[in-house]
Amino acid sequence: MTGGPRDVDGPADSVGERTCPAWCRTLHGVSEGEDDWLHVSEPLVVSDDVTARLCMSVDPRTHEADGPYVLVGSREYSLADAEQLGERLIELTATAASVTPRSAA
Ligand SMILES: [Zn+2]
Repeated sequence: MTGGPRDVDGPADSVGERTCPAWCRTLHGVSEGEDDWLHVSEPLVVSDDVTARLCMSVDPRTHEADGPYVLVGSREYSLADAEQLGERLIELTATAASVTPRSAA
């Protein structure tokens, strides 16, 4: 627990209890307002300048969640789209692996 200055027993209807998803690595309490509602995972390094990470926004008052999404670079994918992207990449690499050199025949 990294206890912030915030009063845990504060009025529940103003800021409600924040529940972080297990993968969240956000240091909450640094930003204000909606920026602080964002839960972000540790980055998965895709390449030198591209990372992928999970992100989700949860309104602490209504517990209404937006996401989670997968951010790849600056693009946002739904979980289903990210899964499909992953599957297609695997298919693509599998296709490459199955190619036999023509010169071998
Ligand atoms: Zn969080």
